Amino acid sequence: MLHKNLGINENNHLTICGYDTVELAKEYGTPSYVMDEDMIRENCRIYKNALEKHFGKGSMPLYASKAFSCKKIYEIAKEEGIGCDVVSGGELYTVYKSGFPMEKVYFHGNNKTDADIALGLDCKIGFFVVDNFEELEEINRQAMQRNVKQNILLRITPGIDPHTHKAVVTGSVDSKFGSAIETNQAMAIVKEALTKANIELCGLHCHIGSQIFECEPFTDAADIMIRFLKQIKDETGKELKILNLGGGMGVRYTEDDPYISYEENIGKIANKIKDYAEKHNVNLPIILMEPGRSLVAAAGLTLYTVGSVKEIPGFKNYVSIDGGMPDNPRYALYQSVYTSVVANKANSPADYTCTIAGRCCESGDLIAENTKITRPERNDILAVLVTGAYNYSMSSHYNRLPKPPVIMVSKDKKYIAVKRESYDDLMRNDL
Ligand SMILES: *Cc1c(COP(=O)(O)O)cnc(C)c1O
Repeated sequence: MLHKNLGINENNHLTICGYDTVELAKEYGTPSYVMDEDMIRENCRIYKNALEKHFGKGSMPLYASKAFSCKKIYEIAKEEGIGCDVVSGGELYTVYKSGFPMEKVYFHGNNKTDADIALGLDCKIGFFVVDNFEELEEINRQAMQRNVKQNILLRITPGIDPHTHKAVVTGSVDSKFGSAIETNQAMAIVKEALTKANIELCGLHCHIGSQIFECEPFTDAADIMIRFLKQIKDETGKELKILNLGGGMGVRYTEDDPYISYEENIGKIANKIKDYAEKHNVNLPIILMEPGRSLVAAAGLTLYTVGSVKEIPGFKNYVSIDGGMPDNPRYALYQSVYTSVVANKANSPADYTCTIAGRCCESGDLIAENTKITRPERNDILAVLVTGAYNYSMSSHYNRLPKPPVIMVSKDKKYIAVKRESYDDLMRNDL
């Protein structure tokens, strides 16, 4: 099986965290997202322990909550003692209402509105990760009105290629995010931030991309960022204390993806960072990382019911399911590959090549093409694996489809974390 929380029981049914997925589909209906709470917690601990071990107190993971945002996940992150990233007023409001310690919340985004900034300040958010000059000015203005000094990091583009998909590359010079070192705009915004009376510049942030399996893109970025910390110290006299290296560690979606140990990778990255700090003669900063996908993706799967199996002789076989791009738009957006399993025939050979299609009125509404599963029949349960990240959080109401529920499972309990939407929920704001 793709991940250790998955298995097959005596009825030939797929299990997650020991629960029979066919039984879960019966109990909660389909489509449903299922998330393994134990695995999420284990991943949080791996990052937390590794960062503390290598970099000491204060270094920690911040959960990049755009991967999967709801009240429950913030409660889990709080209990695990990690921090959080938010990228919008909606995520900020949810984390605030969940009772999360706001001093450990970081507010990202390349275009925070005045209202976003006001909400962040009113919620006493720990840090804004400032993207641009306009934002810096506005945060300073609003902080002055409230008579507070606001902690910030600056988002910097180190200008490296993390060898991954173009849609998820964010650290290159021409990125829409942050200020580039190469163009001297990064130094200009650092100097500007240091002149602001109501802003405390605490450190730098970079995020180079996503689904990265190697360590080099992270260590290359760290090298560039540490040199830049040194340059700042030399030019301004200011020693910045925090270096946030962003998220992006890869996740195994199919048998073709490698296994990586986050613990080992953090260890390797840490050794290099310590070398670079020594070499460039700066004190080792507090190191933050922002895992999103790697904390939650493998903990999730989506359960669907198969409708039609349409065979077009000489062309393709379509297996249609009762969900699709509204609950998982990632294939339609960037051809992300997934592994699917007929959950009630989990041990039978996966020898039927097909395209898995959703139920929307769009030819592009596909979950996978040329994938291999057991040949299913109507009313079989199809499980799409590793959907814990960027599925629920990217879901939409296209074709007026209600969003599926999120069912959490752990060794000692199962429960609904987000309930299924009703048709009335869809009409709630219609006047
Ligand atoms: C998306 C994002 C992350 C998380 O990326 P993953 O690939 O999910 O780990 C972290 N930091 C920032 C700034 C992001 O935009």
